[in-house]
This record gives sequence, C-alpha cells and structure tokens, in this order.
Amino acid sequence: MKLPRVCRDDSGSHLAFSSGSRRICLQVLLLLATLLVTTQVFAVRRERLITTWRPLHYSVNVTLNEGLSEIVSAQTAVEVLALKKLEAIDFDFGDLTIDRVEIDNSPVRFSHRHGSLVITTPRPLNAGGKVTVTITYHGKPKDGLILTRDKDGRPSAIGDNWPDRVHHWIPSFDHPSAKASVTFNVTAPTSQLVVANGSLDRVESLPNGNRVWTYNETVPIPPYCMIIAVGNFALLQPLGVSGPRLSYYVPQSDSHVAEKGFGAAAPALHMFSQVVAPYPYEKLALIVGATRFGGMENSSAIVSTLFSRNGDGNLSQTFGIPRGTVSLIAHEIAHQWFGDSVTESTWSDLWLSEGFATYFAGLFLQKHDGEAAFRDYMESAAQRYFDYEKKSLTPVFDRNTENLFKLLNPNNYEKGAWLLHMLRSRLGDEQFFKGLKAYFQAHKNSVASTEDLRAALEKASRKNLHTFFARWVYDSGHPRYELAWSWSKKPRGVKVTATQIQDGNVFTDPVEIVIVVGNSRQTITLKPQSKQTVQFVSSALEPTEIQIDPRGLILKEVVGIKRR
Ligand SMILES: [Zn+2]
Repeated sequence: MKLPRVCRDDSGSHLAFSSGSRRICLQVLLLLATLLVTTQVFAVRRERLITTWRPLHYSVNVTLNEGLSEIVSAQTAVEVLALKKLEAIDFDFGDLTIDRVEIDNSPVRFSHRHGSLVITTPRPLNAGGKVTVTITYHGKPKDGLILTRDKDGRPSAIGDNWPDRVHHWIPSFDHPSAKASVTFNVTAPTSQLVVANGSLDRVESLPNGNRVWTYNETVPIPPYCMIIAVGNFALLQPLGVSGPRLSYYVPQSDSHVAEKGFGAAAPALHMFSQVVAPYPYEKLALIVGATRFGGMENSSAIVSTLFSRNGDGNLSQTFGIPRGTVSLIAHEIAHQWFGDSVTESTWSDLWLSEGFATYFAGLFLQKHDGEAAFRDYMESAAQRYFDYEKKSLTPVFDRNTENLFKLLNPNNYEKGAWLLHMLRSRLGDEQFFKGLKAYFQAHKNSVASTEDLRAALEKASRKNLHTFFARWVYDSGHPRYELAWSWSKKPRGVKVTATQIQDGNVFTDPVEIVIVVGNSRQTITLKPQSKQTVQFVSSALEPTEIQIDPRGLILKEVVGIKRR
C-alpha cells in the first residue's frame, strides 16, 4: 500500500502544507497506518471452497490449429453435483470466446466477465441433483495452456496450471480441493504427439489429416494438475523397468540424453511404492517442455525443463547425473502421492504437498547416494529456510499471503521437509512410516488438512503431537541455541546450560547433547520447558568437547558453544 503523494512535495525534503493541514494529514497518516496494521493482522486470504456445487468429471475436447498457436474449437462438458438448492452455477473461466452453453443439451443463459462464468439453470437444481454443463468456446488462452516453441524451435502446446491457471483454458472450479476425473479428446495435426493425464484409450485418424487422442484419468485429480502436452516429441520407453508404464516425451535434440537423464525415475517410483503405497495412476509420462517452474507434478504427466540447465557440479554417484536433477525427478514423482493423490485441502496446507515432495527427494538421495548426501541436502535446506526467515517470519500454515506464487517459499518446501524429519525422529521410523501410510490410505484420491496428518501420526504412534504442531506449524521461527558448559571436581561433572535466544516462544523438543571425553562419548537428552535449561551430568574426567544435536535431528541454529 502506497502513501498518498499529497503529503510530500517534489523534493521530499519538507512537508508542503500549513500547520493546520499538516495536523489533518498526520491524522490521515495515522489512520492509514492503523488500517495497514489491522489488515495485516486480520486479513485472512479468501479461498474458493466447495459450498454450493462440485465438479465430478470433466470431458475436455480441444482442437488445435496447424501451428499449435490457437484453440480452433473447444468443448468442455462438466458433470456437476449440487450440494444445495441452486439457481445458478458459477465457473472460473478466463477470457476465451464462448460460443454456447448448454445444460443437459439445452441452451441456457450465462454471463461471462472478470474470470467468472455464471450459468443460470432453467429450473432450480435440488441438493444432490446432477447436471451436465457443456461450454463451447475458442481462442488463444492468455495463460494455463502455453502455446510456444520447444528448444528445437518446433511448435508445442503444454498445460501449466499451478496454482489456479487452468480456468484460462478449461471452464472449471479452480481450487485444489475441487478434484475431479477428466477425459481429454485432443485433435492435433498428424505430425504431433499428444500426451495427457491418465491412460491413452485410443488414437483416431481423421480424413483431414488430423488425429484425435483420447486420454482418460478415472480418479479425481486437482484442477492444477489437468494437462495436455502436444509437440513434435521423441518418445522413449525405457526397457527392463518393472512397475507402472513409464515413458519420456522430449524434444528431438534431447532424445540421446533422456534415458540417462531420467535414470532416477524408475527407482523413485519403486522406492515410494514400497515406502507409501502402490503408484496411484495408470502410467507416468516424463515430459520436457514449457513450464514456469523447474518441474510441475501434473498427475501422471510430469513436465520439466530438464537437460537445458547446467548441473550443480555435484554428481550423483548412483545415476551419474547432477544431484539437482535426481532430486527434482524424485520430488515431482513423490508429488504423485503427496499433492496429486492426497491434495492439500486449502492453500494454508500447501506444505503437505511441497514439504513431503522435498523430504521424499531427500530420502531418495539418502538411499542411493548415502548418508552424507542426505545430511548435505537437509543442511542446505535448513540454511535456505534460515535465510528466508530473516525476510519473512511467518508460520508454515499461512492463512494470509494473497499472492499464491509467494507460497512457493522455504516455509512450505524446506521447513516442511524438516517438520517431517523431526516427526520421524520423534516417532521412530516404524511408527512414522506407519502413520504416513495410514494418512495416504485415508485421503487417497481426495484431500487432507494439516490436522488430518496430525491425527494419523498420533494414531500410529499413540503420542500427543499437539504441542509440536502448535509450535512448529501454526507458529513461526526456529530455535537458536547458545550452549554454555563448565566442569567441576566437586562434585565431579559437567553443568550444561542451553539457552534459546530466538524471539518468540520456547521450542520444547528434546535435544541431544553429547559429552566427549577423549574417545568416549556420553549422550544425554535435554527436555526444555523454558528458554533456559540447566542440567548437571556426572563425569569423572574433564570433557574435551560438548556437541549439541550432532545427528542433525532438529531444525536449529547453534549460535555458540562456550566454556565457562
Ligand atoms: Zn513441488
């Protein structure tokens, strides 16, 4: 919010009004400042939640022109379930030209402006009633379906919808909780390959030289994951891979690097199927093409910009490609379970998608590149989060940020991953993964909230996690530890004082302290109840070193370890 220019003259060096008007202006400033503070404290982001109707199935028919630069014609039929008595159905829809709207094959009245399409039902629809709304339209979408050229300069059309951009090309209920199944019928020139969510049911040749590709995704997916990808792809299908059908769609010039470059995909599918549950979709296509993001996890049709970027220098010892590529592939594949199949209920729960994908990519590195690679990955994640926190001290569960792109931040990614890492060490591997499996099964093909995750982990472990979630998810910050110790001969032992110096509330997570005397190590666990914890530990000999959380189980900074 900008302050009005009227209070400042051109030079900005003095206030250019009389003392009377100065007083009024200062009052205005005070009022504006109060408004600013109150709106920042109380402005809770409005989200379009399901209250009046929900989509059950989308049938999307799209015909593209020869140069893939325009939708020549499109028709989307949406099966709608009324949850209340309805006289109108409101869709999100961008500014493509609408040719006609029908309900159950009869034309109906509609109004279309400012990204909203409101359709009047010819007669009221009762709660529980179902209708099919069919919208016929055409044009060049402003966003959502990216009509561009691939790296070889050939035309391509690729869906890229996160967070709420699908409505620029598909009339929809554009919120992640409004999941639905989807059928795509895509008509494109014979020279093009088409891939979309779900299984390929058929390809039909038309007399005019086009082909119609029908893909069917039978389970509900979030609207931001609904895509088609059309282009002059090289299609590769790796041999000797068990599990779900895996294929790569890449620009022709990438065909020689795809097999090795995507080498982590099959092992990631295998690992997550073992750790969580069988892969939730019919197939997995890995597509190289246009996306605003490094990778986009569309259900069963991941799009990334891989192979165009230089590696980070750190090569994976197992896959012989940059570790950044391995973790990106593992991240997007982990989303198929977390984000796509179990979708965040609201944008405040986004860490259930991004934190999970980030952590599972770490677990994949741990399995294939070893413990040191995992420690590196988690420590870099912690550092990125600490840097971010200096600029924005907000809870992971963020109900305020209006710009959804700003939610792609280290709170949801790196801190989210660390929340899972801390829960894992608190619960132990067996109960943690048992809880995650139960959480997945309970919300598969549906949505989940942070509280759903807490309930599943509590049930699996029989531990109360209220304090952990209250402090780490719904509150902000991280512990900054200052450790002081002294050794005495009478009584013989070490006095350890651990002080949390961060602003804000105490973190009560148990923290390991290791007392090193030559080659021997003694581990004690501090259980902070307040910001300062003092503990005396018997030790016949004088310690040579004291360590705090040496196994890296807590997201924390150690500001100093001092001997007194
Ligand atoms: Zn992600």
